Amino acid sequence: MRWFNQLIATTLPFVPKPIVGFFSKHYIAGEKLENAVSLVKTLNSQRMMATIDVLGEEVKVKEQSLKAVQIYNEVLEAISKEKLDANISVKPTHMGLNIDKEFCYNNIRGLVEEAAKTGNFVRIDMEDSTTADDTIDIYLRIKNDFPNVGTVLQAYLRRNISDVNRLIPHHANLRLCKGIYKEKREIAYKDKMIINDNFNYSLEKLLNNGCYVGIATHDEKLVWHALKLIDQFKLKPEQYEFQMLLGVDHELRRIIVNDGHRLRVYVPFGSDWFGYSTRRLKENPDIAGHIIKNFFNRLLGRKK
Ligand SMILES: Cc1cc2nc3c(=O)[nH]c(=O)nc-3n(C[C@H](O)[C@H](O)[C@H](O)COP(=O)(O)OP(=O)(O)OC[C@H]3O[C@@H](n4cnc5c(N)ncnc54)[C@H](O)[C@@H]3O)c2cc1C
Repeated sequence: MRWFNQLIATTLPFVPKPIVGFFSKHYIAGEKLENAVSLVKTLNSQRMMATIDVLGEEVKVKEQSLKAVQIYNEVLEAISKEKLDANISVKPTHMGLNIDKEFCYNNIRGLVEEAAKTGNFVRIDMEDSTTADDTIDIYLRIKNDFPNVGTVLQAYLRRNISDVNRLIPHHANLRLCKGIYKEKREIAYKDKMIINDNFNYSLEKLLNNGCYVGIATHDEKLVWHALKLIDQFKLKPEQYEFQMLLGVDHELRRIIVNDGHRLRVYVPFGSDWFGYSTRRLKENPDIAGHIIKNFFNRLLGRKK
């Protein structure tokens, strides 16, 4: 199946935009803020929280980042006005990290400051490994002045345990995920079992040391292990949350929420969906397989 996923992922950038749009639409709220707002309202009515992502990354000119900051400010305003249970997730390269680190720092800091005014929160997504040091550095600098900011750790990285150890004394607010970017073997573990063990080990350390963790996975083995730790450490629901991507495994989402845990759905929106979708598919060919599988499940009327 892997060769098939790889084939789809490689050829997908050449597939006409409407077809890619058809495959991507379950993963993206739409092009407009109002699409994201209405989707978040539905999620909230199902007792799920959201984190809103304005699509875009690896911008090359400052104006693009400034435009993104403006849209994020509109998102924060809409969250407050509509009383949504949602925060925002931002990508450092969308905020200009590849142009100038200080520019990026100031953009993210400005959003955190704005979010603080309405009691909201900003999550700094983690991108490929070349951005990890800068992302953690920006996060810690902002965290010095504002508590309403968090970042992400990726369990596939060989450096992950040392990042966990470094961030624990800061009582960091972290999303823990496996990691989605294509990395060399010297940078990231390739063995799925090692990645899972590293996820479990990192989660245990973080929860045991009082860090707030967004447990970001659709892998039921990892969800089960997290539930075991939550029970073992007698954590209250407000001390952690589960997180899942829009469009993935609605059934697991419902099971977790009905079990009394808090769960946040990652809701991307914006006009840059084509680049996002094709890049993601190239980075992780397995996603192409998931899309095809989901497509046929829907066609056959099976719930996923
Ligand atoms: C809320 C959230 C935020 C994230 N933020 C980041 C980030 O900042 N940086 C980063 O590098 N990565 C991020 N990721 C992606 C993450 O690193 C993984 O690539 C992704 O979650 C798949 O890993 P998994 O733990 O779900 O396990 P997997 O073993 O990959 O998946 C488990 C099962 O979930 C289903 N599944 C997984 N992904 C999909 C999909 N796309 N479509 C359909 N079904 C799917 C499949 O049934 C699969 O068998 C985030 C993930 C989530 C949930």
